[in-house]
Amino acid sequence: MKVGIMGGTFDPLHIGHMLAAEAAREAYGLEQVWFLPSHIPPHKHEAGATGAQRLEMVHSAVAGHPAFRVLDWEVARGGVSYTIETVRRLQAEYPQDEFYFIIGADMVQYLPKWRDIDELIRRLYFIGVGRPGTPLDLAALPRHIAQKVLLADMLQVDISSTVLRSRAAAGKSIRYMVPDAVFDYVQRSGCYGIQP
Ligand code: ATP
Ligand code: MG
Repeated sequence: MKVGIMGGTFDPLHIGHMLAAEAAREAYGLEQVWFLPSHIPPHKHEAGATGAQRLEMVHSAVAGHPAFRVLDWEVARGGVSYTIETVRRLQAEYPQDEFYFIIGADMVQYLPKWRDIDELIRRLYFIGVGRPGTPLDLAALPRHIAQKVLLADMLQVDISSTVLRSRAAAGKSIRYMVPDAVFDYVQRSGCYGIQP
């Protein structure tokens, strides 16, 4: 089957992530999308949620979608996870499936810097979605990389986890910027200092 991989730190997961995953699923007929939260090194944690809390947020967000799943590999493993290592493992464990890695425009422009990018593009396609503030310009990429980046249209939402963390820290609301289930979880768990 065709499987999308939606990687990210999801600190917190917001509607931009959900819209990107759904847009890619619809555009390329992906049967499933697996959300893959990455490990965050402890020294980067200030004001952020723990790995367990980020996993909870992702689980609660995807629960209502029949095609969405969560892969806890990178959080469970800890340490730095390079996408290439995760993709090698995915293909070893699911040799029948075809993987598509979903990324926003801000990540697309850095693809040439990704570890073992030449091996990565032999193993899968990327699906790039637009993100306000960053041009999605495949012409700026080396040709052999650009050829492996498919584009999907999505409703542009100018939202980032960084902005949501600072809103929360300033006592401002993040309601409706994250899925309702995530908002409920954030309130219940008290992460980002948000209280019921
Ligand atoms: P942070 O501000 O902490 O970096 P973020 O909002 O960029 O958080 P990430 O977890 O870093 O979220 O992103 C995961 C993936 O989702 C990346 O590929 C990123 O480009 C994409 N993404 C995040 N926000 C949006 C958005 N508003 N529109 C499109 N893609 C997005
Ligand atoms: Mg980011």
